[in-house]
Amino acid sequence: MNLSHWIERNALEHPDGPAVGLGTKVVHTHGELRGRVERLAGGLQRLGLKRGDRVALAMKNVPEYFEVLFAIWHAGLAAVPMNAKLHASELTYILEDSGSRACFVTPALYETISATNALGLEHIFDVTGDAYAGLLAGESVAISFVEPDELAWLFYTSGTTGRPKGAMLSHRNIVAMTLNYFADFDRVMPDDCIIHPAPLSHGSGMWMFPHVCAGACNIVPETGGFDPAEIFDLIAGWQGVSMFAAPTMVRRLTTWSGEADVTNLKLIIYGGAPMYVEDCIAALDRFGPKLAQLYGQGESPMTITHLSREDIADRNHPHWRHRLGTAGVADSCVHVRVVDEDGQELPAGEKGEIVCRGDSVMLGYWNNPEATASALRGGWLWTGDVGVFDDDGYLTLTDRSKDLIISGGTNVYPREIEEVLLQMPQLAEVCVIGRPHPEWGEVVVAYLVCEPGRAVDQKDVDTYCLANMARFKRPKAYRIVDALPKSNYGKILKTEVREIEKTHDWTD
Ligand code: AMP
Repeated sequence: MNLSHWIERNALEHPDGPAVGLGTKVVHTHGELRGRVERLAGGLQRLGLKRGDRVALAMKNVPEYFEVLFAIWHAGLAAVPMNAKLHASELTYILEDSGSRACFVTPALYETISATNALGLEHIFDVTGDAYAGLLAGESVAISFVEPDELAWLFYTSGTTGRPKGAMLSHRNIVAMTLNYFADFDRVMPDDCIIHPAPLSHGSGMWMFPHVCAGACNIVPETGGFDPAEIFDLIAGWQGVSMFAAPTMVRRLTTWSGEADVTNLKLIIYGGAPMYVEDCIAALDRFGPKLAQLYGQGESPMTITHLSREDIADRNHPHWRHRLGTAGVADSCVHVRVVDEDGQELPAGEKGEIVCRGDSVMLGYWNNPEATASALRGGWLWTGDVGVFDDDGYLTLTDRSKDLIISGGTNVYPREIEEVLLQMPQLAEVCVIGRPHPEWGEVVVAYLVCEPGRAVDQKDVDTYCLANMARFKRPKAYRIVDALPKSNYGKILKTEVREIEKTHDWTD
């Protein structure tokens, strides 16, 4: 099964249906997309690229993204989508680590990629340039046959710790993820669409597949990114609209002050980082029962557990609030467990590392047998996330294993404290870390960002914590800051917050 087979089938079934959109306009129908993919694949093969060769993408979200990806697969090659916001040194690292022979770029990245002089990189194509038009002008070729376990996408993890690692995702992994979407998130129809305000090189790109598989339309915002005003225009202008949004984006949509008609909104799937219960309820109040949550990671893309639209909207359920704070139940195509250090399954109520197995789990890390051996042990993917199942099979993510704070020999899970702090209406964002301490091992420190135009007093926060959490969990210091360091995907970078804590001369 080659993923590109969907492109061929859509062109037969709905040749005139919209396949790719930019803003509110249709850019290509399914029939046109097929023609472009088949000709571009021909161009790639004529360059001398051979089955399994890697082709990188250093592209912001543009309509060409889709034809480039599917042409790579049509030609029997493997794609290496890179986040366009990465630093030149990180792009060089990925190009060289993956051994990419060609790279497609959007214009602003042409110079950067040329200047990398990455070893092994033979061809660079600006998707707005003549050379690209030349590739598209040649003869089309037939789809390549690939094995289900052949590499399709080298997914470089965001690398908040250490060097990025390339999770090898096969055609089978992506098919499994796609079918899982239909089983656990939504049934997609050809009249539906997905808008991509988040980078296509990451989670949003993964949700492209169920929409291609269903013959629906993939849409790139005209701004190429996330602008709430444009998102609401797109929702009003298209039908059956879905999107993937990081929790920070959901929050910005929820609190956007303009008028918004969300009749055509079908589903917002949030995930990738914790979403606080209060934010989830506010989003539900604004958008209605159109929210679902995913928990996944590059190593099992978008597919470990989910909290369904029905669960999120079920306000009368006795466990509703508790469930909103969980990542939901195991997905249909994976087996998920919480285990101790030896891999022994732990009963409900006990915290341990989350492991999973199934067809969505990566083949391993590219060129990195040690990292592979540590992540894939005993047939399971060890996620590095810590969690606990409740009696009904709902998984609460308490933290990443390395994020645990141990104070006076007692485990403290930052997430728990963050949840409590976030209930203070003055606070917009919080980040709780451990600071080394000679007596206690570590002490809890909370970084706080206020809502615009609001302020808090450290004493008030402390009183609030005393009233709402066990004494030993209460932060020993509060740092009120203007902003927190974030990754390109909007995740708070705890490693950097820890660094700030180490290097600043705080007066306590
Ligand atoms: P990445 O591989 O860069 O997509 O990061 C995956 C990591 O993000 C996971 O291992 C989790 O630590 C975190 N994550 C993903 N989904 C969720 C979620 N729904 N809630 C909390 N954390 C999440």
